Amino acid sequence: MLDFLGDLRRTHMCGVLRASDAGKKAVLMGWVNRRRDHGNLLFIDLRDRTGVTQIVFNTERDRTVHEKAETLRNEYVIAAVGTVKLRDANTINPNMPTGEVELVADELRVLNESKLPPFLPSDTALTNEETRLKYRYIDLRRDAMQFNIETRHKVAKAIRDYLSSQGFFEIETPFMTRSTPEGARDYLVPSRVQPGTFYALPQSPQMFKQILMISGFDRYFQIVRCFRDEDLRADRQPEFTQIDLEMTYPQPESVWAVVEGFLTAAFAAAGFEIETPFPRMDYDEAIRLYGIDKPDLRLPPFTDVRDCLSSENLSDLAINPNLPVIAIRIPKVGELSRKERDDIKPMFHSKGGARVYEDFKRIANRYAEAAEKISKKTNMAEGDLIVLVAGSAQASSGEKETAFAPHRKVTPQELAIYTSAGLLRLALAQKYAEQHQCFQKGDFRFLWVTNFPMFEWDEGEKQWMAAHHPFTSPHEQDMKLLEEGVESLHDPLSPLSAVRALAYDVVLNGTELGSGSIRIHRQDVQSRIFRALGMTEEEAKARFGFFLEALEYGTPPHGGIALGLDRIVMILAGAESLREVIPFPKTARAVDLMVDAPTPVSEKQLRELGIVVRKPVGQL
Ligand code: ASP
Repeated sequence: MLDFLGDLRRTHMCGVLRASDAGKKAVLMGWVNRRRDHGNLLFIDLRDRTGVTQIVFNTERDRTVHEKAETLRNEYVIAAVGTVKLRDANTINPNMPTGEVELVADELRVLNESKLPPFLPSDTALTNEETRLKYRYIDLRRDAMQFNIETRHKVAKAIRDYLSSQGFFEIETPFMTRSTPEGARDYLVPSRVQPGTFYALPQSPQMFKQILMISGFDRYFQIVRCFRDEDLRADRQPEFTQIDLEMTYPQPESVWAVVEGFLTAAFAAAGFEIETPFPRMDYDEAIRLYGIDKPDLRLPPFTDVRDCLSSENLSDLAINPNLPVIAIRIPKVGELSRKERDDIKPMFHSKGGARVYEDFKRIANRYAEAAEKISKKTNMAEGDLIVLVAGSAQASSGEKETAFAPHRKVTPQELAIYTSAGLLRLALAQKYAEQHQCFQKGDFRFLWVTNFPMFEWDEGEKQWMAAHHPFTSPHEQDMKLLEEGVESLHDPLSPLSAVRALAYDVVLNGTELGSGSIRIHRQDVQSRIFRALGMTEEEAKARFGFFLEALEYGTPPHGGIALGLDRIVMILAGAESLREVIPFPKTARAVDLMVDAPTPVSEKQLRELGIVVRKPVGQL
């Protein structure tokens, strides 16, 4: 039999009572977390968001209440009225914040019962993720999930407060809109009123935030949901949250300072102190030193050890002497077993013309002098792992070397070595540094990567694409290259390859947290960029016409950035995946298992929308 709540009022949450409360009357409400029956004594751990308090039902105190308590099962919702009492010294639980006290119950109201859940919030062993997602409401009751969602709240609040204090207005932008320029697939919403037409859910508020700058709001931000219909890679969500901002008259450094400010606040909200300003690195330098545009600074950069090897060594090892010889050093992984060394081999034996010389020991045995120089140059210490990546002598040396865009500092052959080494470094770091616990918790190494290339060559389409999005401003010094480049749109050697963008990424421990740029505020430059991207004026007008028109009405210089909130919270909560910090996430197949979405809709709905469903391409 269930009880009504009546006029009972909760006096305390379940995590707050302490020894100093002894003697007080209290009314607690919550879920039965655990129940232990010791005959005359029945203990209930009562749980809510704030923690757990032990409730005691004692036959000596009240037989009927005790009897009623015996009917309680896991996850029943109850109210307990009683007196706070100090526990006997031998029953104090130092692992519980409320462990010095218990509530001796005089009254019990059973407010609701619960079916036996497929798993218990108090279980420490995790059930499989599908069950957790299907019964998300139970899963969210778990301590870890409560902590993650609380962290999310605190972090978002700290960011809001900081940005408000810096003069940013939080302004909402529409969800039902049209295609935005981020380049992924759109989620579409059919219009009933205008049959045959569709809204697109925004991949980002990009154009709206720029328009807000044209409209004079000076500083805008939004913690905003964005939607991208991408083939889901391991840890992606079709809807995700960005901390999106835009400001007028900024230098890149102005944007960076704002980001450093709100990240400091966000990290502090989760109990971590970080150092600002973050170091900065040119894109080209990042590639040369780390082989990737989002370097993990917790591990040392590459060392080019070509000069440590004699020409005999090089030819003996079949290494191309005209290309860099990269030494990757992973500190402190200790001696690798034979098997571990063997595991490295298939990782990357020969990639894009680069070869991997995994067994530094063998090199050391054969070429003692070279090895000595290499270990000196790389600052190798006892227990460090060294792997060499170099060009293969068999691969056509020198051939296209000079044919590459003379504007870029790195040739494609060098790039192949750097990027293979970058991938290998990452794989080694994940496999060994993490396994050997070389990373310390709370070691947050931020970095700004700047001056990205403006364009990327698309080998399939044989044309240049915007590396960020087409509203990103080129470097003022590179305008001439842009002008020249427009003459050679379909040429991979076009001067376009050397145009740098005023674009920047903020990177943390090898993960990109966000990217942004100074925007184009002049219509003439914007048209030139569209032209470089192979877009005719008509095409540009059809896609972004309203925006191009807006640019003509006194657009101030402006720029901004967007950072992924989910990822930041994941890092701060120490969670393993984005799904752990999103209350109602989707699976890797973009399904919400709890509400069971997406679903087919009724014939009537389809008819109203003027939609006929065909089998998608590939399923015919
Ligand atoms: N809209 C961009 C993105 O979502 C960020 C920016 O350029 O501000 O990646």
